[in-house]
Amino acid sequence: MTLVTSLICVKCGAEAPAPESAGVCPHCNDPSAVLEINYDMDAAARSMTPAALAARPLNHWRYRELLPVEPGPAADAWPVGFTPILDTPRLARWAGLSRLRIKDDTRNPTACFKDRASSVGVLHALSHNARRVACASTGNAASSLAGFAAIAGIPATIFVPARAPEPKIAQLLVFGADVRRVRGTYEQAYELCSALCRQHGWYNRNCAINPYLVEGKKTAGLEIAEQTARDLPGWVAVSVGDGCTAAGIAKGLIEMHALGFIDRVPRLLGVQAERVDPVARAFETGTPEVAPDADTFADSINVAVPRNWRKAVQRVRETNGVFVRVSDDEIAEAMRAAGSLAGVFAEPAAAASIAGIRRAVSAGIIEPDADAVAVVTGSGLKDIASAINICGKPTDTDPL
Ligand SMILES: *Cc1c(COP(=O)(O)O)cnc(C)c1O
Repeated sequence: MTLVTSLICVKCGAEAPAPESAGVCPHCNDPSAVLEINYDMDAAARSMTPAALAARPLNHWRYRELLPVEPGPAADAWPVGFTPILDTPRLARWAGLSRLRIKDDTRNPTACFKDRASSVGVLHALSHNARRVACASTGNAASSLAGFAAIAGIPATIFVPARAPEPKIAQLLVFGADVRRVRGTYEQAYELCSALCRQHGWYNRNCAINPYLVEGKKTAGLEIAEQTARDLPGWVAVSVGDGCTAAGIAKGLIEMHALGFIDRVPRLLGVQAERVDPVARAFETGTPEVAPDADTFADSINVAVPRNWRKAVQRVRETNGVFVRVSDDEIAEAMRAAGSLAGVFAEPAAAASIAGIRRAVSAGIIEPDADAVAVVTGSGLKDIASAINICGKPTDTDPL
C-alpha cells in the first residue's frame, strides 16, 4: 500500500481520478492541466525518519513513503539513484563561485537521470499488468525505459526524432526495444506516440503527462536534501526541456523540508537554451509558450512545446527560484570545463546546468560567495560527436 492520498490538477486544483498511465485533469480539458500526486505526510514523517533511512539500501527506493509505487523486490534489484555529490573546487573557480558541487547522475544504470522516472514507470506499468510500454523521447527517456523494460520483461516501443544521437539509438537497440525513428521533430514523435498509445492501450511513459513519472524524478531532490542536510546549498541548478526534471527536484526538496530533513528549501535555477526557452518565457509571462525556431545541439532539452511548463513554473517559483538562458557556445564551454576541471563527462544538456550557474553569477543573480549544486543529468558518452566537435581530435603519432 502506498501513502498516496490524492491526485490534484495543477491548473484548477480539483482532485482528479488516478489515470492508468498518462492523463490530464478531466475538468480542465487543457494540455497543461497535468496532475500532481499528494501523500499522507504525517504517516510519511512517522516512518521515514533519519534513523529508518540509515538502515535502507543506498538507492532511490529508500524513499518508498514518497513514491506512488511499492518497490518490492526491485528495491534491491534495480539500484537507481543515490548518486554521489562531488565537490568540484576547480570548476567552482571557473564558474566564479566559492563552492560548486555536482550531483553526478551519469552514474545511473543507463547513464542518465531519466532512470529515476523510468524505473518508477515500469514498476507502475507492471502493477497495472501493462502489455507494452511506450514513449517518445529525445533519447535518454527512451534508452532508460528500454533498459528497465528489458529487466522487467515487458516489450517497449520507442519513438525518437530524426536527430537523436546514434549512441542513444544504439542503447535502445541493444536493450531490445522496437525503435521507430520518426522523420520529424521530437514534437511529432510525441504526437505519434500518444496516438498509438491511445489506439493500442499501451502504457504511456511520456513523463510530462504521466504524474507517476515525475515522482521518480523527484528522488533527486529527496537525495540532495538528505545528502547535503548539514551543508545545504543555496542553489540547485538543473537544465529544462519539458520541465519535469526541474518540477520533480523542486517537489523533492519541498517534501524533505516538510518532513523536517532540511530547515530551508534551496532555490532552483532552471536553465534553458537561448533558442529553446519556452519554459523560461512561461515563467515570465504566466502563459503557455512555444519555441517555433527551437534549435540547440543540447538535444535532450531541445523541446519546442513543453508539456510540463505549468508544474515547472509553479514549483520553481515555490522555491523562490529563477530561470536563465545559455547559448550553445556557453554549453560547449561548460562541457569542456566539467571534463577538464572536474573529471565529469557531461552530455550537452547536462553541462547546461553548469553553464547556467556561470551565467547566473556573471548576471548578478547568484552571489559569488554562494554555494550551488549542479545536477549533471546525462553522460557525454551518449553524444560523442558533440564532444569531439568541441574538444577536437587527438594528435596522431607514429610508434617508436
Ligand atoms: C530529459 C533531460 C533533461 C531535461 O528534463 P525535462 O524533464 O525534459 O525538463 C535534462 N538533461 C538530460 C540529459 C535529459 O535527458
